[in-house]
Amino acid sequence: MILDTGRDNLRLKDRLERLVREKRISHAYIFEGPSDIDKEAFARGFIKGVLCPKGLGENCGQCSICSKIDHGNHEDITYFRKDGLSIKDASVLALQEKIKVKPVGDRNVMVISDCDTLTAKAQNSLLKTLEEPPGDALIILLSENMENLAPTILSRCVKFRIDAQTESLEDEKAGKMIEMSISGCRFHELVHEAGDYLRDRTKAWMLLDSMERVYRDMAIDGSDARRYRFEDICRYVNSIEEARIRLKQKMSAEYAMKELLLEMTE
Ligand SMILES: [Zn+2]
Repeated sequence: MILDTGRDNLRLKDRLERLVREKRISHAYIFEGPSDIDKEAFARGFIKGVLCPKGLGENCGQCSICSKIDHGNHEDITYFRKDGLSIKDASVLALQEKIKVKPVGDRNVMVISDCDTLTAKAQNSLLKTLEEPPGDALIILLSENMENLAPTILSRCVKFRIDAQTESLEDEKAGKMIEMSISGCRFHELVHEAGDYLRDRTKAWMLLDSMERVYRDMAIDGSDARRYRFEDICRYVNSIEEARIRLKQKMSAEYAMKELLLEMTE
């Protein structure tokens, strides 16, 4: 298990675990989340999943590597935090020197906390590293609001949003159904999974909202894009809107939803 966040961020956790297990680890990530979330702890969970020798995605939490990561003294991991009000160019230059050094273990990991405070000059320097990241280096940016970063930086990172709120049952259900749809399940399987959500209009509304969130997140982060086509996501979001219209027209939840489920299994 990569992240031990209880019920929080279940879906995010699943997605990260899958990326790591399937060896689809990118060079650069942004984790965005509000100030009251310990984003460094979140990053440590992810790094353990990548570096733990028990296997990709394991994060055993007991081996010497996991323990070093927990205690912040792993040789290959460097944290950069703001100095005063900002992270200045000098810090990024230090990162560039450090990242060139051959790691003791599998890869160098650079974690930039407070990356919202990178000065314009520092962002420019960082961009050069993101354009040509050396070797197996892993760069993790932690942000409260990724809009503070230049679009050129954003476009080179895989982006994830860490939500403070516990996922609702609808979010879990939507995540599961969409996963089934991507894996090519049959219509009747999706209908079965939807269960009560096809019988109750209020529940149907909530499920539609959750589904839209899941699809939008997928479109934004793009890290999983090999498993689905962007055009399909747009089509599903449209179908969700059409299902809402059917609900507004007082059609039964079952009728309003089934057309969407049919589309999701085509
Ligand atoms: Zn371990």
